[in-house]
Amino acid sequence: MTNSLLQELKEVAKEAAKPVAAICCLAFAGCHLANFISKQIVYDKIPAYVQSILPEIMQEQERKIGIKHFGIPNIRYDIPSSYNPKIFNDAKGSMKADGHYNPLKNYISIDRNAMNIDPLRWKSRVKQIVSHELGHSYADKLNENICAKYNKKYNEKAIRDDLVWPNDYSIETQLVSEGIAKYFEHAITGEKDRFKDSDWPSEEKNYHNFKAIYDGGYHLVKPVIKRHGKKGINFLMKQNPCNDLGNLKEYQKRTLRHLSNPDVARYF
Ligand SMILES: [Zn+2]
Repeated sequence: MTNSLLQELKEVAKEAAKPVAAICCLAFAGCHLANFISKQIVYDKIPAYVQSILPEIMQEQERKIGIKHFGIPNIRYDIPSSYNPKIFNDAKGSMKADGHYNPLKNYISIDRNAMNIDPLRWKSRVKQIVSHELGHSYADKLNENICAKYNKKYNEKAIRDDLVWPNDYSIETQLVSEGIAKYFEHAITGEKDRFKDSDWPSEEKNYHNFKAIYDGGYHLVKPVIKRHGKKGINFLMKQNPCNDLGNLKEYQKRTLRHLSNPDVARYF
């Protein structure tokens, strides 16, 4: 083949490739546009969907856990992502919470920007977030209610301080708080306990990850809430595993023993 013929063939091939490349670009752009539009449609549907499932989820949790919610909580969708806390840097990388409960202002926020919106599975993710945040909301309201009752009865600062749900967000508080929220979530999703006693971390540095706090927290509180419902939740919040953090079984045994004692249980 002569050099001039080779050059000619190259020119022909280049020209032929142009429309193919253009079609590919259009298809690629079309795909992205369709994806963007379908996500936007889902994004706009989330508030109405949440309002429609909220009463049903709350009733189901009340029936399964043996509690009574303190009214329908406010839900906000307009909280900037920067207000939402980042949760752990673990093997999955840095994660941003797409659901959040604000205990000071008593509202649940759903951060649609932080959510991975899958146009086919968004409903189950939204249901999961709402169920989980209702657990945080219930625990906070229960605590506020009991504090108010004791304040009225005793009006003693020491008692008030003792009953205030700790704000330090220590590892013990996180375990119990997320464990309770997970319990409310699993009551709706039907998810099983994937954590084993042997997964319980032996050193404190190993608690700071998603699996330990969320799955471990659920594993920690499960037998207590299952047997004692509201009283169990209240006890867990007031008597979290401060000194026996490294000994899961001992803490669960102690908690269940106290709650079975009527003289102790009447305070919770
Ligand atoms: Zn949570």
